[in-house]
Amino acid sequence: MAAQIAQTLSGATLGELAGTEAAAAPRRGIAVLQAGTGVGKSVAYAASVIALALAQQKRVLISTATVALQEQLIGKDLPALAALLSEPFSFALAKGRGRYVCRLKLDQLSDGDAASAELFDNDADADAAVGADAAVADGFGAERRAERARQYAQWALQLDAGAWDGDRDRLEVPPPPASWQPVAAERHSCSARHCPSYHGCSYYKARARLAQTQVIVVNHDLLLSTLGMYALPDPSDCYLVLDEAHHLSAVAQGRFTQAMDLMHSQWLDRLPRAIDEVCSALQHTPALNVAPLARELKTALAELARLALARVAARPEWSVLCRGAGTAATDAPAVPLLERFESGALPPEWLPPLELVHSRANALLKQLEALAGQIKAKARDNPGEAARCARLYSRLGAFAPRLQHTWATSELFLQQPQAQQPPLAKWLQAGTERGLVTLSAHACPLQPGSLLRQQLWSRVRAAVLTSASLVSCGNFEHFLSESGLDDDPDVVCRAVQSPFDHARQGRLVVVQTQADPKDVSAYTDEMLAALLQDLAAVPRGALVLFTSKAQLRSAQALLASEPHGELRARVLVQGQTARPQLLARHAARVAQGQASILFGLQSFGEGLDLPGALCEWLFITKLPFASPNDPVSQARADWLKSQGRDPFAELVIPATGVRLLQWSGRALRSEADQAVIVCYDRRLLLQAYGRRLLQGLPPYLLQRRVNGVLFPV
Ligand code: SF4
Repeated sequence: MAAQIAQTLSGATLGELAGTEAAAAPRRGIAVLQAGTGVGKSVAYAASVIALALAQQKRVLISTATVALQEQLIGKDLPALAALLSEPFSFALAKGRGRYVCRLKLDQLSDGDAASAELFDNDADADAAVGADAAVADGFGAERRAERARQYAQWALQLDAGAWDGDRDRLEVPPPPASWQPVAAERHSCSARHCPSYHGCSYYKARARLAQTQVIVVNHDLLLSTLGMYALPDPSDCYLVLDEAHHLSAVAQGRFTQAMDLMHSQWLDRLPRAIDEVCSALQHTPALNVAPLARELKTALAELARLALARVAARPEWSVLCRGAGTAATDAPAVPLLERFESGALPPEWLPPLELVHSRANALLKQLEALAGQIKAKARDNPGEAARCARLYSRLGAFAPRLQHTWATSELFLQQPQAQQPPLAKWLQAGTERGLVTLSAHACPLQPGSLLRQQLWSRVRAAVLTSASLVSCGNFEHFLSESGLDDDPDVVCRAVQSPFDHARQGRLVVVQTQADPKDVSAYTDEMLAALLQDLAAVPRGALVLFTSKAQLRSAQALLASEPHGELRARVLVQGQTARPQLLARHAARVAQGQASILFGLQSFGEGLDLPGALCEWLFITKLPFASPNDPVSQARADWLKSQGRDPFAELVIPATGVRLLQWSGRALRSEADQAVIVCYDRRLLLQAYGRRLLQGLPPYLLQRRVNGVLFPV
């Protein structure tokens, strides 16, 4: 793996090109490497890429999907490598701006008065009062503000004493989001070097440290959200490693989704006053009359809310709740309702209010931008006014993200479907919060790959993408297409085989049930009877992965019956206690020579490390189909169908292949492990797609079990 990385990346040209190179296109190299379990992928990429970067005097950006891997890199892998390499290197974890406190807000809010709260337009408090008893809410708000002000004053003292560096994660007691959010650093309300607290600012200090760091660890979301903002090294001038790269397209999809709130628009009543105050402080006459614009925007949002409520009210589970905006919701369904616009097409009556929202939000945004520019200029020309200017900037900045989301979502909603082009996914989300109906509109381009191509790959010159599960059904096609690298001529793909001897260490037994897995009730009954019989014979550690909560509950219900009392005592169920405690209990029981069986769902199927005796048996209750159940996947499936293509073959099976590979990967964690994987879904052997799925799995010894008797396959 290290050799492949060195070979692919060493020809890439990074940074500004000079001389004859400047005339030609920059040379790129992108290595897509599936690293089988036990390869030691983080050591392989860190040792090769960091050595290359040090030799070229370039920097390295390592992006991961999970906190666990970030901790492993920062706490274990990178210090170990730094101790070994002859040339020292520095490394650090990059965190988002919102993880740091904003000193300006902290100072302002620590006095706790209502005016200070309004300075940053704390909508949460203001909106909470709507629809509830205002007097009670006001009293409660004042008490809460005073309590928070005490907390903020204490944090300010800690900062002054150097006892805290402003990083939320370094507080002794993690603050709840409602306390943290009002004082968190945030882009729109930050005038950066024009702020009087800039030189002592926790976020900018952390950023300055990062600028001196050679190896930066980050997560995919932060990487994508800061593209073009100079917060991290420019992707065209550094080596980029994307570990856990199979998550990249899902993260990109979330990142590129736009949403606007249709129910909470009270902030638009406060916007004109905020703009008036800033204008009079600047002695400036606004070019636009803001108040009617804000009123029209609010009216258009209310009209969209009315249309949206009428639409979701047609769903039986919501008809009782949707009697109008602000309706109290006492019997709300537990799960938010998603209502999709098929093929991205909107009913005609949606267009006039959407156009109004789009144009008014745009005009107001421009007004905010113009004022922000003036405030910065004033701060620059009058350093003595810096503190007042920074507060004015924050005053406006509090409104900017909401206007921005409103404008960007309406922009996407107004894009009409084009022939032969995938449409946008557009949907409404209805739910309840504090007893009130919530409603928001969302839109997202259908193909995360094309966005990654525009936003990321067009800038990247040298990258490694790796994970234990990039290959699906025996090839890289699905991963490359999802991540936007399918037509990239500079991509090299390679599957680096695991050092494990899968055929000797692992056995995959496919149980041939009588019941068809599509007949859910009959299949679950037969599968659970067989599972419980198998579990009774487990001598030490085992893991059972269920495909749905309903299936898991059925297993628990069966275990609760009298004949299974002894087995019940050996089972630990995901969620019954915190994950670290559950795993510690499992490990302790196995260490004492007892049988211990973990019951889990999808999140236990990925990333759970149970070496040796902790997982000698792995039971997969059914094929973990990755069915399209979110609005974007459903829209993609519809579009493929409209093109005469098969979403099951193109989307569902490859995504299921990745999931099955991850699930089965829980069984063997070292070269000394021995394990049996039992899958109760006969479709793995009997269906053509089952054989495609098998092609993507390591070469376990494969057996079929019929009526308790094993046969070779
Ligand atoms: S520089 Fe920005 S984040 Fe830092 S204290 Fe000032 S306004 Fe807050």
